Amino acid sequence: MQKISGLSEITGFAEITPTAPIAAARHGGRAKCLQRLIRLDMPVPPTVVLDFGAVHGLSTGDMPDLDAMLAYFGPEPLLSVRPSSEDPDWGGPGAILNIGMNEALHAKLVLSHGEAAANALYLRFIQAYAVHVARADPDEFEPAGLPTAEALARALAAYEAETDEPFPQDVREQLGEVLRSMARAWEGTTARLLREAKGAPADAGLGLVVQKMALGVGKGISGSGVIQFVDAATGTPEIRGRYMCQAQGRDALTAKDGNGDILYLKDDPRGRSIEGVLPQVWDDLMRYGELSRKRLREEMQIEFTVENERLYILDAVRVPRSPRANLRIAVALAKDGIISQDEAVLRVPPGSLSELLHSQVDRAGARDVIGAGIAASPGAATGRIVFTARAAQAMAAQDEACVLVRRETTPEDIRGMHVAKAVLTVRGGVTSHAAVIARGLGVPCVVGASDFALDLKAGTLTAPGGRVLREGEVITLDGSHGQVIAGAAPMLAPALGESFRTLLAWADAARDIGVRANADTPEDARKAQMFEAEGIGLCRTEHMFFAEDRLLAMREMIFADDAEDRRSILERIGPMLRRDFVELFGIMGGRPVTIRLFDLPLHEFLPQGREGLRELAEALDLPLSDVTRRAEALAEFNPMLGMRGVRLGLTVPEIYDTQARAIFEAVVEVARSGAAVVPEIMIPLVSARREVEIVKARVDAVAAAVRIEQGVDFTYRLGVMVETPRAALRAGEIAPHSAFLSFGTNDLTQMTYGLSRDDAGRFMGQYVSQGVYGEDPFHVLDAEGVGELLTIGVERARAANPGLTLSVCGEHGGNPESIAFCRAAGFDYVSCSPYRVPVARLAAAHLAIAERGAERPPRMY
Ligand code: PEP
Ligand code: MG
Repeated sequence: MQKISGLSEITGFAEITPTAPIAAARHGGRAKCLQRLIRLDMPVPPTVVLDFGAVHGLSTGDMPDLDAMLAYFGPEPLLSVRPSSEDPDWGGPGAILNIGMNEALHAKLVLSHGEAAANALYLRFIQAYAVHVARADPDEFEPAGLPTAEALARALAAYEAETDEPFPQDVREQLGEVLRSMARAWEGTTARLLREAKGAPADAGLGLVVQKMALGVGKGISGSGVIQFVDAATGTPEIRGRYMCQAQGRDALTAKDGNGDILYLKDDPRGRSIEGVLPQVWDDLMRYGELSRKRLREEMQIEFTVENERLYILDAVRVPRSPRANLRIAVALAKDGIISQDEAVLRVPPGSLSELLHSQVDRAGARDVIGAGIAASPGAATGRIVFTARAAQAMAAQDEACVLVRRETTPEDIRGMHVAKAVLTVRGGVTSHAAVIARGLGVPCVVGASDFALDLKAGTLTAPGGRVLREGEVITLDGSHGQVIAGAAPMLAPALGESFRTLLAWADAARDIGVRANADTPEDARKAQMFEAEGIGLCRTEHMFFAEDRLLAMREMIFADDAEDRRSILERIGPMLRRDFVELFGIMGGRPVTIRLFDLPLHEFLPQGREGLRELAEALDLPLSDVTRRAEALAEFNPMLGMRGVRLGLTVPEIYDTQARAIFEAVVEVARSGAAVVPEIMIPLVSARREVEIVKARVDAVAAAVRIEQGVDFTYRLGVMVETPRAALRAGEIAPHSAFLSFGTNDLTQMTYGLSRDDAGRFMGQYVSQGVYGEDPFHVLDAEGVGELLTIGVERARAANPGLTLSVCGEHGGNPESIAFCRAAGFDYVSCSPYRVPVARLAAAHLAIAERGAERPPRMY
């Protein structure tokens, strides 16, 4: 065979040999992987590859040297062409097989392989060529029935009828057109948008792999199949795959069960198997599986063909897998010493953990199922129905959970899908846009719920039984079972397996920034503990009063006319708080707990509307007019900039006194049971040093009083939330009075931009789509503006008090990009909602490992 590697500059393609300079960044992952298989001495048929430049040239009319390519493959070649993108997840056009089939070769193959085999090869090529190259109507070329001479004649006639030309007989023309059509498909808008949604850069290239066919049809035991050595859903070691006699490509995977040509791979009492019928092929497959796992350092799915009992390895791809399986495989490879622990950590994208962390609908509970579709992305979630991505963003901006319901989704919906808790589409299948994107995002998703009627004009979704749901109504989607459930179904917390814990333990060993959880209630604290947060970084104590029974106590306190009344209500509230703190300390088992003193945006606790005021008047046993008058007196034009945080603490000091007393009494109670707790008390919304001094003096006084009353000594740390721009700028004078500073980037973003946290959703979509903001700054920290304030705050605070602990506890604490910023800026820890804790632990580990210069693992095709 003519050796042409080295001529690629002239010919536009390169032979894949063990030593050819093939690179994934230039020829694509598939080409690189084939080279690795060849280096492992696997029987790969002769293969060449067109690099990204050559394929791009094809789309603009530059042909590689096809004569040289055909000369390489020898006379009357039969070829396949497969896509080879840099990252396999970016997709590419489908493979085309049997290029080179024409009347002359057909006639020869009838003699050598039999008529049925020759017809099957030719038919397959005509069908693929007609649909993908000549762009003929696919319905006219549906593969149907047996590969008879009549079927072949019909296909050739249909081709001529559709294109006004006879089916091309010249191999050179066939190959050139196949290559050109695949190059153009890659450059098309739909393909580009889809791969960009998966993270591909705008100029991502495509390589094309041209390989000599191993036929899989004809005499002896011929056929093709795929084999892999793990279960794709769970990652458990198991031989999986299919083989079909007289078949090509991946036919075996789509053939119906019960087809007599299907063989089991491993010995099976139900029928014939490769192991039984072709023991040598079986042994080789086992050996290649082992070899590829060890040497390619990955679980591979191997595509093979048996031609007249001889085995060929055509291709191997990284086993397509669920996030759960990916994690288990990475851990198993590291435990077997094939990859390092750090590499296992790097192989699991932080965002992919969300699927493992998702809740499921409790099977034991009642569920009001109103319809079903295809289970497309696992986990379950409850939220209010929204019909547009924009409505989803608006609702998310108000911290309301929503379920995005669409006929089908397009790339324009991605932002909405990002913020929705779940996605339901009336159309589509498991590989539809909605399904693919939702799985990528880890959002529960049900697609193809075609029995539902969606009427966007009327704003209704009608369930199969006729039940009409409107925008704003609550539903639960079970993406694991494809069910649509009315109302909020009872949920189960996710079960985290052994591999999950192992991987996160390795991540913890690698990372160098702490991760705590924002947890307001004992229930949250249990989640924080389950996700192994290093402590609670933010306990918003006012949230302890959102429960219906406690809200009234809080409202009574807010409505108290004078200090005396307030004191008596606070005496009732104090013990409630103490019980909560005792429970929190107990759950956290000695890990740090940062308790923020009340930061009541009063409007969140005031009753809404006349009906709400009437109910409150009833509960407080006051005349409606009194309650209305008081509510009016308390109303603020700008509650987020009003009597919030430390301002309330200074003007109504007995509130913070009560809280401090409850915290210290809880510390004493826990100390008496033998556990030591050093609580961290945090003052919210500070903008001036004097605020800190005043609160500190009162909290110190309460501590001294409790020590004397209880006869128990204890210590505590007092810190400040930096969430106003002024506090960041004046951090140098606040730091000496603080044991720690925690940056509240939610308010800091709000105040830096002058952007309402509650209302920005209305225009955020437009701002981002017009490129005014690169990202929603409430989701991804604005490294330039807000980031500069953080950097200034950190520098000034550390200069004034080098021993001080610094952290970020806004929502950004759980966002991998923002964590990168916090780590670089020198923060000691980030704190985020419990479900984001594992994501943050893993993201932090990725950063530390990358900084140590660990090479990114090569991505197998
Ligand atoms: C913040 O502002 O970033 C913060 C954590 O506090 P909250 O979200 O409670 O205002
Ligand atoms: Mg805040």
